[in-house]
Amino acid sequence: MKSKILDEIKKYDTIIIHRHVRPDPDAYGSQGGLAEIIKTSFPEKTVYTVGKEEESLNFMRRLDSIPDEAYKGALVIVCDTANQERVCDQRYTMGDKLIKIDHHPNEDPYGDIMWVETDASSVSEMIYEFYLEGKDAGLKMSDEAARLIYGGIVGDTGRFLFPSTTEKTFEIAGELIRYNFSRTDLYDKMYELKPNVVKLNGYVLQNFEVLANGAASVTISRELQEQYGLKASDASLLVGVLGNVQGIKAWVFFIEEEDQIRVCLRSKGPVINGLAKKYKGGGHPLAAGASIHSWEEKKDVIKDLEEICL
Ligand code: AMP
Repeated sequence: MKSKILDEIKKYDTIIIHRHVRPDPDAYGSQGGLAEIIKTSFPEKTVYTVGKEEESLNFMRRLDSIPDEAYKGALVIVCDTANQERVCDQRYTMGDKLIKIDHHPNEDPYGDIMWVETDASSVSEMIYEFYLEGKDAGLKMSDEAARLIYGGIVGDTGRFLFPSTTEKTFEIAGELIRYNFSRTDLYDKMYELKPNVVKLNGYVLQNFEVLANGAASVTISRELQEQYGLKASDASLLVGVLGNVQGIKAWVFFIEEEDQIRVCLRSKGPVINGLAKKYKGGGHPLAAGASIHSWEEKKDVIKDLEEICL
């Protein structure tokens, strides 16, 4: 599959790379890392990275604003996005050919070519493997690509903590740190939190609800976000914080947005992506998400989570 993707990249003059809505470091890392590899390897090609910018990730990469015409005859690659409705910038179908590169369960197979590896820690890790496979056929790595890919891997593995981290992940990380970028600078930016988010973290730690069977929940209403002067996207940065609370097996954050309530699920064992799927979401076995549209539904999600933890 990797060599097939390289063949397509070689064929096209314009390559447009997308990723998912509400991006995280792996979305930026895989999208930007792939773009930098292509640009370094084939300087004559035009490569765009698109999508709505997430301010807190501007340090990773700034994105391009492109007209619809740019898609004419272009190759479009979507990174780290399991379902089509979660592709950020829905013009992704306007190109000549579409490639999906992802590590989530392939619930929504789309694209002319699909490369999906659910065992990969991150799509950034896959992008580095793509480089390794293609380096004899002309692919080149750059310091900037290495920085982005490394950041993506660190982000999606929770700093090499989650069980998705494999021997291969460490080998790749070991290769990446030989490139010229500052890890300290990257970590500082990735893990820097606004003072208000840290205060909300305090609220979360004081107010999480312990449910039956080792489940837990946190509710972050719009009112609370206003009180702390924060956006829903800021609140979602805290979803991992219950991971080291003794006795908690799986937990859910309900984060109220303008028109929906985001359901962010995390687990240290019980598989929770089936639950996310039940509420029309998805994700990984131990990190998944969905949306609900009323507080009534919150009770159902909690009941389901308690059952899964049994
Ligand atoms: P989040 O809780 O938003 O950080 O998401 C955790 C994981 O679940 C990520 O891998 C997301 O791609 C996935 N995910 C979150 N929300 C959805 C959704 N509505 N549909 C499908 N996958 C989702």
